[in-house]
Amino acid sequence: MAATFKGGFHVHDHKDLTNTKRTKTLPDCDVHIYPLRQHIGAPLSPLVKPGDHVDVGQKIADSDQFVSAPVHSSVSGTVTKIEPYYHDSGTMTEAIFVENDKKYTVAQTVRPRDYKKLLDKDLLSAVREAGIVGMGGAGFPTHVKLSPKTKVDYVILNCAECEPYITADHRAMLEEPDKMIIGLKIAMRILDLTDGHIGVELNKPDAIAALKSSPEYNEHIHIVPLKVKYPQGAEKQLIKAVTGRRVKAGALPADAGAVVINGSTAVAIAKAVEDGMPLIERNLTVSGDAVKEPSNFHVRTGVPISFVIENAGGFIAKPEKVISGGPMMGIAQYNTDYPVVKTTSSVLALLHAPKIFDPDAPCIRCGKCVQHCPMQLMPFKLRQASVKNDVDMAMKYNATECIECGLCSYICPANKNILQYIRMIKPEVLKKQREGAK
Ligand code: SF4
Ligand code: SF4
Repeated sequence: MAATFKGGFHVHDHKDLTNTKRTKTLPDCDVHIYPLRQHIGAPLSPLVKPGDHVDVGQKIADSDQFVSAPVHSSVSGTVTKIEPYYHDSGTMTEAIFVENDKKYTVAQTVRPRDYKKLLDKDLLSAVREAGIVGMGGAGFPTHVKLSPKTKVDYVILNCAECEPYITADHRAMLEEPDKMIIGLKIAMRILDLTDGHIGVELNKPDAIAALKSSPEYNEHIHIVPLKVKYPQGAEKQLIKAVTGRRVKAGALPADAGAVVINGSTAVAIAKAVEDGMPLIERNLTVSGDAVKEPSNFHVRTGVPISFVIENAGGFIAKPEKVISGGPMMGIAQYNTDYPVVKTTSSVLALLHAPKIFDPDAPCIRCGKCVQHCPMQLMPFKLRQASVKNDVDMAMKYNATECIECGLCSYICPANKNILQYIRMIKPEVLKKQREGAK
């Protein structure tokens, strides 16, 4: 029987638009734009200035803080300006613009290595120096994840890819299974573990077969088939499914003895450590019914998303909604000028918004949001708390435990945008908790 967690729901996934198509590469793009914010943690400072020449893989921004991740140029060329620019978070963020000379001269710092001969501490430092972050969307620096305060028992590759439409990790499993397993083995070395796990939803049997056929696969790599259910790829839900352990309220995965790494992030780890190449490229899904040729692309960071969409044939008609990420947790965009960053897993263009919410419709008390919430919360109560701006009530119903998966809003027959209300009250609850802790 496939492993899973309590709650959740199988949402229509639309993955057949792209999951059988080989990942394509893009033609040269004239200008690459590198936002300084591509991770969770301390802000970066530029290491270059306008007029400087940069090479592929050259570090162009960094911070001396531990919870941070440097940014590297994905092309060779000239820095033309550093100024605020669009970011897929919806804000303007300081960004470094590089005019691509189209020679792709690789920086001298990029040197292949035999990872088996490196010391564990050097492996960790290679991950840090390569600017690797969680590529599933969260952007948490991977070297921080790989430095838990206490010894963990599990490292799990998250290959669930449960968000509808997105197939970038699926294609990575099919096209780069060796690199993915090498990335896992490097993480196992750093964490001093003899075994590693890979959680894959059962709707990807070809990916499971590709991983098992890899020469890197052995008896210490455990592929765990997961039930096809959203949000199977959420960290806490994946840990429960693979290990049976529960991450307690307010705790981190490492507190439950587990570290979770996205599958594409593992590929990036292998490339960083083996090839010496920092995180400067990623797989990205372009999909939705407004896209002429839904596809997966292998993309160098910094490319404007409009350029990627153009190479997928453009739009067949004006989309009603463009989303960076998946339809459940992604961020709606007001333009397509924003550049691809390390965490851009997909762009969706939809002719019709996935759901029209009705703020005035009454809750019919059907209980569906409670039944399916993967965190066993009472979403309708959290919504009520937010409407009343009642922070104590939101605390009582554990607002901060909400993982913002959006399932309650998706499933609600009264079309209440429950998550939007939870997002409004959550910062107030966190503030009160912080004040209480002082
Ligand atoms: S968004 Fe939050 S409250 Fe709603 S189903 Fe997901 S975890 Fe539960
Ligand atoms: S799913 Fe919607 S209608 Fe049903 S209890 Fe939850 S908020 Fe109310």
